[in-house]
Amino acid sequence: MSEFLDQYIKFLPGVGPAKAEILNSELKIKTFGDLLFYFPYKYIDRTKFYKISEIHAQMSYIQMKGVIRSFETIGKGNKERLTACFCDDSGNIELVWFRSIKWQKKNLRLNKEYIVFGKPGEFNGRISIVHPEMETEEENKLKPVGLFQGYYITTEKMKSRSLNSKAINKLQLTLINLAKGKIKETLPEPLIKKLKLVSLENALFTIHKLENTNDLKNASFRLKFEELFIVQLKILSLKHKRENKFKGYKFEHVGYNFNTFYNNFLPFELTNAQKRVMKEIRRDVNCNIQMNRLLQGDVGSGKTLVALMTMLLAIDNGFQSCFMAPTEILAQQHFQSISKFLQGMNIEIGLLTGSTKASERKIIHKNLEYGKTQILIGTHALIEDTVIFKNLGLVVIDEQHRFGVAQRAKLWQKNDFIPPHILIMTATPIPRTLAMTVYGDLNISVIDELPPGRKPVQTWHFFENKRNQVLNFLHKQLENGTQVYIVYPLISESEKMDLKNLEDGYIHTKELFPNIEVSMVHGRMKPNLKEKMMHNFKTGKTKIMVATTVIEVGVDVPNASVMVIESAERFGLSQLHQLRGRVGRGAEQSYCILMSSYKLSNESRKRLETMVRTNDGFEIAEMDMKLRGPGEIDGTQQSGIGFDLKIANLAKDGKILQLARDEAAAILEKDPKLLTDENNILLKNIMRTKQADFEWSSIS
Ligand code: ADP
Ligand code: MG
Repeated sequence: MSEFLDQYIKFLPGVGPAKAEILNSELKIKTFGDLLFYFPYKYIDRTKFYKISEIHAQMSYIQMKGVIRSFETIGKGNKERLTACFCDDSGNIELVWFRSIKWQKKNLRLNKEYIVFGKPGEFNGRISIVHPEMETEEENKLKPVGLFQGYYITTEKMKSRSLNSKAINKLQLTLINLAKGKIKETLPEPLIKKLKLVSLENALFTIHKLENTNDLKNASFRLKFEELFIVQLKILSLKHKRENKFKGYKFEHVGYNFNTFYNNFLPFELTNAQKRVMKEIRRDVNCNIQMNRLLQGDVGSGKTLVALMTMLLAIDNGFQSCFMAPTEILAQQHFQSISKFLQGMNIEIGLLTGSTKASERKIIHKNLEYGKTQILIGTHALIEDTVIFKNLGLVVIDEQHRFGVAQRAKLWQKNDFIPPHILIMTATPIPRTLAMTVYGDLNISVIDELPPGRKPVQTWHFFENKRNQVLNFLHKQLENGTQVYIVYPLISESEKMDLKNLEDGYIHTKELFPNIEVSMVHGRMKPNLKEKMMHNFKTGKTKIMVATTVIEVGVDVPNASVMVIESAERFGLSQLHQLRGRVGRGAEQSYCILMSSYKLSNESRKRLETMVRTNDGFEIAEMDMKLRGPGEIDGTQQSGIGFDLKIANLAKDGKILQLARDEAAAILEKDPKLLTDENNILLKNIMRTKQADFEWSSIS
């Protein structure tokens, strides 16, 4: 950036070394530019004053005028607080301070008019404002804020050193005055013209000093677009680079195995979505470039079958495949179902997991090295260094988010020169915007259609008062011969208590259903016992499975058609959806019953409502992202991409993101290395974002 913006923040009038230190340690603000790119998250209309009688606890920040009638100090030690009774002609409200009590008492005057600014809350049935900003009429007039005051996120530490939002606001205004005419453009002129963007200087100034809400749209559009555009430029150019660097095997034959399976063994018609995805994969593996494809599809949408057919394609072209699952149970399950699909075809399938005996292991290793084994299914054990393939051509990774980036990278290195094709499957739908960013360097396929004949799971939400009806319902279902899951939360912070809840639940369930066999499974169990319990449930020996979320991923018991989730308010949305995916796998109508306590936070209520309303994994993923924010969604933490968008919001700015991606792709197509004069500005722009987010894409 221009030198002006590179100046150290301590040189900004009003900052100095001490505050510079705090800005640096708390917000990573080191330079003028860093400050200018620290954006307000909302604005407060400082033209409006409220009457005290109009104020209620659900309001955001408000302003009012009035006088302090009296003070009172309450409590002792660290419970000590100062309260003031603040009045106008419509009523009174309580102001509260927990810190700097002495200072407030000394400086605030009784019966003098103040402008009070803060966020109302409710405590003990009274409306109050904690740590309000107080200023006199004169102070208010002198202040340099815009009519709409930007509100900035600050930390406790900053607040205690007089660097609250208001102080940041003031610094921004000082900086803007100094910066006039000194902020250079960072996007190519033609792009600015094409999209009718406002200049960078204009956008930055408007964001910090907003005088007219109409200007905000253009300013924030410009800044959001640029932010997303630069991310997309990076992702797409890395993708491009990788595609050039890593050659891939060519699977050009659709041969005997694929065709025989398709024509003679496939027990049903592929869904249209499966056909489309198969086409996408075949295009990928037939062009000398390594495939990196993410296959998304709800539980039960038939991803495994797509993987199987891709593996047959590999065999037809003389390559081995491996299929990696996140748990032993799942690996076994895949082994069984794939073996069953391929029964009668002459294909060598191996199973390798942590519990494979040493003697068997030796044989498996040998068969792999000779190339006798054509498909190897297993867990992490697959990626141990001792496992050597003759010619690994395809790696399928199921339920990807359980595998770290590093583990995936290890697979790449199994071949010296040409890496195998990679197909990653996930049943945790990722919102489109997130996929474009976090997995922006992968190609994405979606199976958005369930095989025909599936009955959507019916979902209900009940409170404790319906417990008896639920029990009656379970009795009936069990009499009809179906099996039931009862799931309890298990969250690490209160693990002991949760374990007790689970065990109590188990005992209680046995009492309630005295003639029925019950299994229990949780993560703390010895693996052997866990396997046994799972096995008993799978074979129908036990009819009820009391469990924690260990059953979340992939376990397949088609005869289980009822899922009861206890304390459902404690589960995340995508977790609930995964759990629900355990039922509805057979021909019977299935049910998911969400039990919750009466007291629900707004967010939990929305989660439960969403579950009752829809079975659509993508809709649920979008809602999940809205409720939790994009940084919390599964997979983003491991993705390795620095998730520090400053102004764009992946949950809301999908359209801008799409535009940014399209524009980035268009520019890279003409000028992949950004070498023209016109695009040189972009190269500089990319270099400037110094984050270490370059490594990830070479392995993800
Ligand atoms: P996923 O891995 O996506 O959760 P699976 O591949 O395990 O789904 O498929 C779920 C069930 O649906 C399996 O029993 C599978 O055999 C079956 N299935 C897959 N594709 C189809 C199809 N096109 N028509 C009917 N049943 C299918
Ligand atoms: Mg699956």
